[in-house]
Amino acid sequence: MRNFRYLLQLSLVLAMLLCASIAFASPAPVISPETEAAYSKIASLAAVKKGLDFIAKDDANTLNDQKTIVAIPAPPFKEKVRAEYYMKRLQALGLKDVKMDSEGNVYGIRPGTGKGPKILVEAHLDTVFPEGTNTKPIEKDGKIYAPGIADDTRGLAALLSVIRAFNATGIKTVGDIVFAGTVGEEGLGDLRGMKAFFRDNKDIAASVSVDGTSVTRITYQATGSHRYEVTFTGPGGHSFGAFGIPSAIHALGRAVAKVGDVETPKTPKTTFTIGTISGGTSVNSIAAKATLLLDMRSNSQEELLKVESKILPLFQQGADEENARWGVTDPKKMITVDIKLVGDRPAGGQSKDAPVVQAAWMATKVIGEEPALTAASSTNANLPISIGVPAITIGAGGESGNNHSPDEWYDNKDAYKAPQKIFVTILGLVGIDGVTEPLAK
Ligand SMILES: [Zn+2]
Repeated sequence: MRNFRYLLQLSLVLAMLLCASIAFASPAPVISPETEAAYSKIASLAAVKKGLDFIAKDDANTLNDQKTIVAIPAPPFKEKVRAEYYMKRLQALGLKDVKMDSEGNVYGIRPGTGKGPKILVEAHLDTVFPEGTNTKPIEKDGKIYAPGIADDTRGLAALLSVIRAFNATGIKTVGDIVFAGTVGEEGLGDLRGMKAFFRDNKDIAASVSVDGTSVTRITYQATGSHRYEVTFTGPGGHSFGAFGIPSAIHALGRAVAKVGDVETPKTPKTTFTIGTISGGTSVNSIAAKATLLLDMRSNSQEELLKVESKILPLFQQGADEENARWGVTDPKKMITVDIKLVGDRPAGGQSKDAPVVQAAWMATKVIGEEPALTAASSTNANLPISIGVPAITIGAGGESGNNHSPDEWYDNKDAYKAPQKIFVTILGLVGIDGVTEPLAK
């Protein structure tokens, strides 16, 4: 009996381990012979080794830049002061045609031979922190604390180190590289910086976003989201004296119950939630107003639009039922519904074998790390992916925690490896004159 129980436990443990390994097994891109050949040349080139050494030795400068940039606040929609500073840095590093566009992005070009593709390499300028937040860095226990110190100030600093490495090595690339600080990545910014950049630049062959700290992870799929604020409005009145009129809260409740029953596919993962509700006046009032915030996400734009078309009509249905319940026909006494789009990030997928994914994968190996593809998420890469431009998001180095909180911290441990990876990823994509053909087409 005891043996049997032991065997049962053992098989349960084995089954769990098997499930765990299936759940965590990360798919790998198929590396084409072209990519393989390009990266074996890149890895053995003296100028590339010089660039990698340079970036390692440049680590202290990169960290200094990070501390300088984080101290310049960049609240949502108010990135201008930081953007102007970053623009000056791009100019000082010798990029061509450095400018600020109409949305507030700043960027410049490192030209190639003129016969290659053009790629974008960007980090975002904006933070989630409102105006008035103290962003001066404080060093404590080997870590640096400041709101935004990692997300995405580390990315901005890493790009500067990569540009310095290009200058130090003098490597002539085939393709052109646009280095950018972009606005509006966070929250209600809704990727407005990327939307503007890709509206103005139709000739981008691949896009590399630098965000987060991980040196190994590669994000290549985009979780899209639509967010709505829905407001129910009615006459309102005394709970006893005015009884018999429809309630905004009751109408909202009817609608919420319907939303709760909506079905979505497991793959592509498609989700929805009503994240907050608010409203009413007091316990003894029939509510005149009630508001909810709805979040819907999917890894497929088609499924995102499908779940949206299922959910949005339910709000009017909730109001109609509440009005009918009390037999109200006078429009002035009815509950009305106002639906406002407050968030729109496009979804999209691309093959894990896309050359841009292969390049980042091989670059990770070149710097001696083990790459991993991550689950779809919501980053600046969403926008290019959604319009068919190959794109990835890769990390900027170091370690971090408490992102989006005032206690955000950053640890510069082995941080130089990420700008090394970015440098090598770029080299594969744009090609080195006389050495490799560009992998970005
Ligand atoms: Zn970020």
